[in-house]
Amino acid sequence: MTAQAVIPGQGRVVTRFAPSPTGRLHLGHAMSAVLAHELARRAGGRFLLRIEDIDLARCREEHVAGISADLEWLGLDWDGAVVRQSSRLHLYAVALDRLKAQALVYPCFCTRAEIAASASAPHGSDAPIYPGTCRAIHDPDLTRPHCWRLDMARAVALAGPLSWSDNGTTIAADPAAQGDVVLARKDAPSSYHLAVTVDDADQGVTDIVRGVDLFAATHVHRLLQALLGLPTPRYHHHPLLTDERGERLAKRTGAPSLTAMREAGEDGLALAAALARGDYRPKTALRGR
Ligand code: GLU
Repeated sequence: MTAQAVIPGQGRVVTRFAPSPTGRLHLGHAMSAVLAHELARRAGGRFLLRIEDIDLARCREEHVAGISADLEWLGLDWDGAVVRQSSRLHLYAVALDRLKAQALVYPCFCTRAEIAASASAPHGSDAPIYPGTCRAIHDPDLTRPHCWRLDMARAVALAGPLSWSDNGTTIAADPAAQGDVVLARKDAPSSYHLAVTVDDADQGVTDIVRGVDLFAATHVHRLLQALLGLPTPRYHHHPLLTDERGERLAKRTGAPSLTAMREAGEDGLALAAALARGDYRPKTALRGR
């Protein structure tokens, strides 16, 4: 019988690694994957691999194969079949319909340029806060290209105060700061926010391990959980890896991909062990490919 330990009172632990195959994996991905794998294995739980490929224009099949090869190089095994978001679009459509039925979303016809040009728009975590231009359209022409946005003020009022547990600390959710986020894109039937929230619940994920760069998004995910009647997992946002100068390791700062490290003959198991211990010191930060 395989060990399927259950943390008393918490049920079986399920974690996941959920990369988007828009490029090669980097050290930051390795850290999330290693820590999520470690959390599951220590608890005798399950570690899932989900490919977040809803952005068909940017996702590439060669990167999907690269993800499996990189995880194997790190010595990480996953449970069950690899789930791909591109085959689950019906689930996101159902969730969006539910929000439509509650009048919590509205179609938005604005272009990126129009939103960027709205001079007074304060900036959220990574995109300008949407100024709400299309919120008041009474009779929208849905034959025109449009995305669907959450009516944040209505949603927050309906949900009331929310919080989540992050590394054991209670965090008060403040989704309003993110503005009317996109839940279904013009060019894709879902956005990251909607798909990740639906999938984590549908797959029974109990513990989400990911970089602190996604902390702001968690405010939105917590709200969507409340609106859709989904359970709230525990979150474990981890710090981002930095180089010796304290700069965040990222593709754009020249950090090497895992594939490049693997092909250069580096030891993936040693890397994974160091990341799990929290004492990995990047020596290759500026030698990127
Ligand atoms: N797919 C996201 C990414 O690659 C991560 C999703 C998550 O961990 O919530 O950045």
